[in-house]
Amino acid sequence: MYDMTVIGGGPAGITAAVIALNSRMETLIIAERWGGQTTYGMELEDTEGREVITGETLLDSFRRQLDYLDFARHFDTVTRVVPEEGHFVIHTADDDRFEALTLVIATGAKPQRLNVPGETLLAGRGLSYSAASHAGLFLGKDVAVVGNGRRAQWATASLARKAHRVYLLAPEPLVPTPLAQKLNKMDTVEVLEGATVQQVVGAKFVEGVVAAMPDGQSREIPVKGVFVKLTRTPNSALVREWVDCDSRGHILVDTHCATSWPGAFAAGDVTVVSEQVLVHVGEGAKAALSAYHYLLMQ
Ligand SMILES: Cc1cc2nc3c(=O)[nH]c(=O)nc-3n(C[C@H](O)[C@H](O)[C@H](O)COP(=O)(O)OP(=O)(O)OC[C@H]3O[C@@H](n4cnc5c(N)ncnc54)[C@H](O)[C@@H]3O)c2cc1C
Repeated sequence: MYDMTVIGGGPAGITAAVIALNSRMETLIIAERWGGQTTYGMELEDTEGREVITGETLLDSFRRQLDYLDFARHFDTVTRVVPEEGHFVIHTADDDRFEALTLVIATGAKPQRLNVPGETLLAGRGLSYSAASHAGLFLGKDVAVVGNGRRAQWATASLARKAHRVYLLAPEPLVPTPLAQKLNKMDTVEVLEGATVQQVVGAKFVEGVVAAMPDGQSREIPVKGVFVKLTRTPNSALVREWVDCDSRGHILVDTHCATSWPGAFAAGDVTVVSEQVLVHVGEGAKAALSAYHYLLMQ
């Protein structure tokens, strides 16, 4: 029986495991792979030579500590988690079974891709999925945001403070929010409802985006950055039946990262907390400390 099992090897999971080990808890981490979504960086024509701290760099020291320490790690996919009286039973794809007194769920989320030509080539070369991380790199430039929901609207508002012009390419009408009303009135924002991205253009870095407009015409918009802010699906299926989640599947946590099930904690993109490596390093640490306190109280 482990004191704590962490599911996920991204920023939240790795930090939770480091904190648990430093607290001398019997810890098991199960992840499909180390690093999670942090393996993506951002390179731009004019950021060469500029010191950019990537998620991977940030996480590296924690990861090296885990590599060095002798503890249980298991690279596998968790297929089922069953809450039992006072503990959890964890099943994996390789048919292994583990038991733990506490659980930290740090399984991340899947951002929806555009699936158009140019996306894969230009990801990390002007095309980003994280405005929180990369908006600041586009000072005074023209950029496009793709999406119609709250995440796209938030990204547009954030970019409008830094970029020269922001095109919000919304495949569907904007979800009605106070922010949507504000965006429609901003001089630096052009909202293009019904625009569907067909291609991201650029040889080495993003140079533009081609969109099908509602009138059937194709329009090429020259931009240096494209932010894809479509839906993001939290990987919470393992616990959704017994842990409270919001309507989109994010695990609901309190300020201590505790879920609605005693002994189960969650951190990172699988929760409602905004997507950023630096934030999730802290969230993972918090979840592990909360689990430790929980154990001490039993
Ligand atoms: C393309 C892209 C670029 C980004 N760029 C930046 C950036 O430059 N700076 C920044 O701060 N943020 C960036 N972000 C956001 C940041 O990467 C995420 O917010 C962060 O990685 C989330 O951390 P996490 O630990 O919650 O989840 P993740 O990093 O998603 O890790 C989840 C982990 O859980 C594992 N897992 C999932 N399900 C299972 C299962 N059933 N069994 C076992 N393991 C499982 C996965 O294998 C993975 O190890 C970017 C995101 C994307 C998608």
